[in-house]
Amino acid sequence: MREKALLQKRAFFLYNAHTMYAQVVFDIPISQHFTYFIPEEFRPVVQKGTRVYVPFGRRNTTGYVVGLSPNPPEKIQIKAIVDVLDPIPLITSDVFQLCEWIADYYLCGLGEVLRMALPPGLSLEEKKTVRLVKTPQGEELENLKKRAPLMHAIVVALSQAREMQVHALQRKLGRRWIKDSLLRLQQAGFIELQDRLTGRASHEKRQTFIKLCDGAGGRAADVLARAPKMRAILEALQRNGGSGRLHQILKETRASRTSANRLARLGMVEIYERRIERDYYGDLEVPPAPKLVLTAEQQQAVERILQAMGSPSRPFLIHGVTGSGKTQVYIEAIRQTLNSGKGAILLVPEIALTPQIVRRFRSEFQDRVAVLHSRMSAGERYDAWLKIREGRARVVVGPRSAVFAPVQNLGIIVVDEEHETSYKQTDNAPRYHARDVAIVRAKLVGALVVLGSATPSMESYYNARLKKYTLIEMRKRIDEVPMPRVKLVNMARAPKVNTKSENAILSEILVERIRDKLAKREQIIILQNRRGFSSAVQCRECGHVQMCPNCNISMSYHLKGRKMRCHYCNETQNAPDRCPQCYSVEIQYKGIGTQRVEKEFEELFPGARIVRMDLDTTRGRRAHDRILEDFARYRYDILIGTQMIAKGLDFPRVTLVGVISADTGLYLPDFRASEKTFQLLTQVAGRAGRKDREGEVIIQTYSPGHMCLQCTKDHDFKRFFNFEIQDRRVLNYPPFGRLALIQFRHTDRRKALEAGYLFFRFLEPQAETFQILGPAPSPISRLQSFYRFQILLKNDRKVDPSAGQMREAVRNAMKKYREHHKYSRVKVSIDIDPLIIL
Ligand code: ADP
Ligand code: ZN
Ligand code: ZN
Repeated sequence: MREKALLQKRAFFLYNAHTMYAQVVFDIPISQHFTYFIPEEFRPVVQKGTRVYVPFGRRNTTGYVVGLSPNPPEKIQIKAIVDVLDPIPLITSDVFQLCEWIADYYLCGLGEVLRMALPPGLSLEEKKTVRLVKTPQGEELENLKKRAPLMHAIVVALSQAREMQVHALQRKLGRRWIKDSLLRLQQAGFIELQDRLTGRASHEKRQTFIKLCDGAGGRAADVLARAPKMRAILEALQRNGGSGRLHQILKETRASRTSANRLARLGMVEIYERRIERDYYGDLEVPPAPKLVLTAEQQQAVERILQAMGSPSRPFLIHGVTGSGKTQVYIEAIRQTLNSGKGAILLVPEIALTPQIVRRFRSEFQDRVAVLHSRMSAGERYDAWLKIREGRARVVVGPRSAVFAPVQNLGIIVVDEEHETSYKQTDNAPRYHARDVAIVRAKLVGALVVLGSATPSMESYYNARLKKYTLIEMRKRIDEVPMPRVKLVNMARAPKVNTKSENAILSEILVERIRDKLAKREQIIILQNRRGFSSAVQCRECGHVQMCPNCNISMSYHLKGRKMRCHYCNETQNAPDRCPQCYSVEIQYKGIGTQRVEKEFEELFPGARIVRMDLDTTRGRRAHDRILEDFARYRYDILIGTQMIAKGLDFPRVTLVGVISADTGLYLPDFRASEKTFQLLTQVAGRAGRKDREGEVIIQTYSPGHMCLQCTKDHDFKRFFNFEIQDRRVLNYPPFGRLALIQFRHTDRRKALEAGYLFFRFLEPQAETFQILGPAPSPISRLQSFYRFQILLKNDRKVDPSAGQMREAVRNAMKKYREHHKYSRVKVSIDIDPLIIL
């Protein structure tokens, strides 16, 4: 198969034999490409998307070919490609095109996008490492300390780690120029410098197998008599159905490899290697697919989607209340897509990618499903990816990065919970939004897109209003289950239950309802969207609040080990017994976290089985899945958690959902605070009540009159949308004006600010169709020791609907800014259509 493809390529390239130069990009934030000479032997295989190993800077590294040309560029010296890493390009042409679009739209380097499109761990890089081979002792060390402090510092740093990359060492010492010292230490025999290739971690895994050969029976008797170990191997193989892993068989029989080899030489067994597919979900029990009869609403939704198949069409937006059976609609649409010979991608929020959903898809589509997500090892992801690339898997289920999955002949992309902000990559480039990228990809290849949510984003629902998307509504829950009754409890007035602490957090009514459900052996979900015990610790005497030394954020208190922890940089300190400022012992805990709720529940409901799910309890690879599975099996009565409990759960025994404080996210300095709160509350409320059990929701709040809470109470998405869209229109926020955020970070506050002003100077003359806000300190003005300033751009939709001019202006400003070189050490990031403006 591969050979044939290669031959075809060869033929094609004979014709193109004059293609001698390749344009190559790297995983770095610039849009420039570099030209390399293609040595004769590589010419047949190098094409767009091929990974190559080339000299770059002072070392060799992996790059991606993005273009070919017969002519050398003007420049004088051209380096040659050292090696070609893939005989056929890993990136298919449609994904390549998609990556080009992303680099252009989100203003980032094409290399950065291409890296996203590949499974992790494929990049080869030569890294200089230093190793300590002899530790200077006593006087020697003292001498170093006096005469050459930098050499001394290097030795001290290495004595902890033994081996480090030069990069890391530079960072640790906070010094860039350490080369002289390193060379002198090497001459003195203390250290060794080496070039190491890194990044081969996730390549194919192979295992050795052994199997019985046919017709070996005749001579077996002779052998059996003389060699007990060989006999044991044969017997073990017979027990195992004729074959097994060599390692396993030898272990079972305590036989040696020599015995196995002798059997092989006698022709009685065969020993061979096979590629092993690592599957994170390999041991998942998959029940047979349920035989469901579609409801009228489901039937209609499926029909409308299928009608559009095969012809270019607008994206669909399914607005279906929680429990309306959207998943089954996706499944039917995907089934038809597969039947017509095409492939499918289902995007889900990372946190909703639970065994429940995987089981559901595996039971429908068996091993045609490949799952990708970040909790899998690099090896598992590589194998799943290859399964897709080779066409053995036709359905991909995964979080945002699965939008790049190399599905061939793609027919449909479904984006479940399309409103979820985790579809947007915020921390690193490419800062893409997977929902929007899905729409572009579908357009490129003529596939369908289906977005689904119980609480669509303002952007998507507005597009549906404008008829850019086709709206499908599902108003009824399956089996006519009524929507849960929602009660708002005004915490300013409601009687509270006092458990020792003076600032009580639980209303009597919530506690009473929990008791009732526990007595009926029903389950309860409790949301408090903040982890830790309390979000701040404050001195009662002088008002001092313990802040993170690296960020201007108050440190949270954690019960375990009595620690103060920063939720942004993870700085950890022991909790003080006394105020560090005035030595008072009067310390109060402010802001409720999940640990506090858990602790109060343990005191109030002795005997109840309580489990907490937040970032702190889900660090292990499978911890998240395990908690949900155990809760589903009724090993717990109460599940307390942050927003991660609101997604992808379907527990028939849950009849009560409690929200400890609905106000937690409502007053953040973010124009989306209301939207996000409405979505979260509606989603978590939707967990209550299935089939014959009526659901009840109790929301504690100090703002019961807030429009967001009133609409949650009435399950009224449209009213919420109509209110909210007015504010957005007046303030020209999305979906009206589009935004771009440019951020400047440096450990020196002045430098970060000056860089912001320099950028502003390049931007301002072009600001005809957009408004510039800033540079101003970011809402979190210091993070992980970096001072942060930002410029926010808001475009005028009437003159520049797609914000193309605004992006062009940013691109130009960035180019000028880079050429200026003055603030090259300030980190600059560009976020187009940002979702988080902190
Ligand atoms: P949504 O995603 O819209 O909140 P789900 O897809 O999770 O809803 O469906 C809710 C529940 O209804 C699930 O347990 C699902 O198995 C069940 N269900 C879906 N469609 C049907 C149907 N046609 N008949 C019976 N049960 C169904
Ligand atoms: Zn104090
Ligand atoms: Zn911090």
